[in-house]
Amino acid sequence: MRICVIFSMKYVCCWSGGKDSTASIILAHEHGEPLDLILSSEVMYDKARGISGENPAHMQFMREVAKPLFEKWGYQVEIVRGNTDYLERFHRKIERPVKYPEHKGMEFGFPLCGDGCYVKRDCKVRPTDDRLSEIGGEYCQYVGICVDEPDRLASLHETEGKISLLERYGYTEEMAMEKCREYGLLSPAYQFSRRQGCWFCPNAKRLELLEIKKRYPDVWKEFVGLETLPNIANAKWNCYKKQTLQEIDEMLEWDIRQMSIFDMFS
Ligand code: SF4
Repeated sequence: MRICVIFSMKYVCCWSGGKDSTASIILAHEHGEPLDLILSSEVMYDKARGISGENPAHMQFMREVAKPLFEKWGYQVEIVRGNTDYLERFHRKIERPVKYPEHKGMEFGFPLCGDGCYVKRDCKVRPTDDRLSEIGGEYCQYVGICVDEPDRLASLHETEGKISLLERYGYTEEMAMEKCREYGLLSPAYQFSRRQGCWFCPNAKRLELLEIKKRYPDVWKEFVGLETLPNIANAKWNCYKKQTLQEIDEMLEWDIRQMSIFDMFS
């Protein structure tokens, strides 16, 4: 007797809370597309103290505004965290240096931007992959790529198991943003920057950093101090720019003083 086990395909949307993945979920809802799991991964600055690496207003929006609405629509929503965090990875000792033997025994320090970023690999992608591997069977992933992103779409078409609902329904980036606005699901993080990502990223914009300095002055002070620690292999926060964190801190201090003066006379 032959026994045939048929796994039904599962549909997953990896959700950053940004306009493209959020609009993909809205489109799935509007068009009755199958969606079994909305999965998000929260990068932590320091897990032990519960300090997130994401923009605080953005995380609040995801947890308190978007997630409850998606659940009301009947979707399962999970926000996972990895086993490690930014500070642990920053202070981790380099045991087998790949390029520079003199770095052996030193702490790794600041991440490099882009695909070489250890935060992306260990705190963002790995927890998502771990959760996806638990699903078992076949699954299809909805990816938030718009019709006006031809290069990203071209590489998506070469990848199995991933599709874009934004492409299926002809959405540009601007249309995705408008769709989120229509449902009250545009993250407040867009007031600070068009990028989504960790506040401690070298790509973070001045307004994002200012927000952290104002909301979490102690955490910010500690973060600025990382650049002055000894025995760090990658000791510069932004290896592409000459500006140090201390200099950025002084700029932000100036911004805060200017705002207070403005408030006094407004
Ligand atoms: S936002 Fe920056 S620090 Fe965070 S994962 Fe991406 S590249 Fe790394």
